[in-house]
Amino acid sequence: MAEQVDLFVIGAGSGGVRAARIAAGHGARVMVAEEYRVGGTCVIRGCVPKKLLVYASRFSEEFEDAAGFGWTVPAPSFDWPTLIANKDREIARLEAAYASTLERARVKLIKSRAVLEDAHTIRLLATGESVRAKHVLISTGAAPHHGAAIAGLEHVISSNEAFHLPSLPQRILIQGGGYIAVEFAGIFNGLGSEVTLVYRGDNILRGFDDEARAHLRGEMERRGIKIVTRQLVEAVEKVEHGLCVNLTDHESFTVDRVMFALGRRPNVAGFGLEAVGVQLAKNGGIAVNEFLQTSVPHIYAVGDVTNRINLTPVAVREGHAFADTVFGSKPTSVDHSDVPTAVFSEPELGAVGLTEAEARARLAKVDIYKTTFRPMKATLSGRDTRMFMKLVVDGSNDRVVGCHIVGPDAGELIQVLGIAVKMKATKADFDATMAVHPTAAEELVTLREKTASHVR
Ligand SMILES: Cc1cc2nc3c(=O)[nH]c(=O)nc-3n(C[C@H](O)[C@H](O)[C@H](O)COP(=O)(O)OP(=O)(O)OC[C@H]3O[C@@H](n4cnc5c(N)ncnc54)[C@H](O)[C@@H]3O)c2cc1C
Repeated sequence: MAEQVDLFVIGAGSGGVRAARIAAGHGARVMVAEEYRVGGTCVIRGCVPKKLLVYASRFSEEFEDAAGFGWTVPAPSFDWPTLIANKDREIARLEAAYASTLERARVKLIKSRAVLEDAHTIRLLATGESVRAKHVLISTGAAPHHGAAIAGLEHVISSNEAFHLPSLPQRILIQGGGYIAVEFAGIFNGLGSEVTLVYRGDNILRGFDDEARAHLRGEMERRGIKIVTRQLVEAVEKVEHGLCVNLTDHESFTVDRVMFALGRRPNVAGFGLEAVGVQLAKNGGIAVNEFLQTSVPHIYAVGDVTNRINLTPVAVREGHAFADTVFGSKPTSVDHSDVPTAVFSEPELGAVGLTEAEARARLAKVDIYKTTFRPMKATLSGRDTRMFMKLVVDGSNDRVVGCHIVGPDAGELIQVLGIAVKMKATKADFDATMAVHPTAAEELVTLREKTASHVR
């Protein structure tokens, strides 16, 4: 007879691992299947390895900036294989830590692709065994897609392969305007590659505050990244010394690598979802209600596979809420408003809440407080760079409804500002907060002058 469990989790990524662990803590018998590596996208080929490469890429500026502070740094050299090997070692350590966390929680981990045979039966392709489950959680995440078929698509890599290149490309062309494209442009630029970023829209990072986007673009260009907008890659051709990339306006570039980061599609196909009647939403992800329940009542879905806010902390929070709801007798829904987010570009961008455009479309009165300034470190380093900060304030009640920062440590700053925005802090609360001097963040509590006021 097939093994029986209370919960079968398909996909051991951020959402699935948290859900499995918490459900087991509530006393459920839990099994989780993972077809690739435990930890999922974030740990194996997302946030974590990306941030390690970001750290690596920033040393080049540090070496340059050191001179203004009296240091003589011999011409530095960089070894890509060392970085990749060290990164891989850390990822393997984390993967093992995730597996042992599951083991300690008495969750049974199966290294296999799982498919739904029927609404309560899961087949493990690695062994051919079937498992019966009272509840099923789909946490299969998302995968990169390359968009429309073009000539030479076989030469194009995604972020998955970028983490494992045998050598640092001297020249790379990246197509995409989202955070993954922008972050990899910064990584390769910092490590010494010649980087071209091609994006079909008007400017990078659609969805972020327009002025923050413009500011970041300027900073990236100042660092030597060539940004080509309103263009698409039309064809990629292998030539003698690399890959020749043709754009729609007939401009062409010869590079060593071409990477596409055109977005990620939820993993909803090929494991029996349709057959058991799980419905999809218009965004291509699995449709869920506020308790993460799909159209089949005992089947739930969390994380990127629902294609809403595709970030690790959201997947984790959803996995936890699902487990508390179904196994902890504590119905919990996840609040998706005011999620702080960071782009680990060079320099970083941090944002929480409404952009200026969103606020103007939604609110009767909007006040803007913003500043750009030269970070103190740049005074001695001589680096030509500026930091940008903007507060978007609801003019009818003085609440700070949006914060947008471009500059060093914007990711760290926005985490803390996220608390203030979530608590519905007012501009007067910001003003009443004593500054920490000398910091860049003190600008946030000393922005006295409105730079714009919009009334609808
Ligand atoms: C390059 C990159 C950088 C990123 N950077 C950040 C960042 O800085 N901050 C941030 O918050 N987010 C970041 N993200 C997004 C983040 O990684 C995801 O939002 C998060 O991993 C989603 O978690 P999840 O549990 O939904 O899915 P995943 O972590 O993707 O896990 C899904 C798992 O399911 C497995 N699976 C799929 N189908 C099956 C099946 N049928 N059977 C068995 N196993 C299956 C997959 O192998 C995978 O391991 C980044 C993503 C990428 C690609």
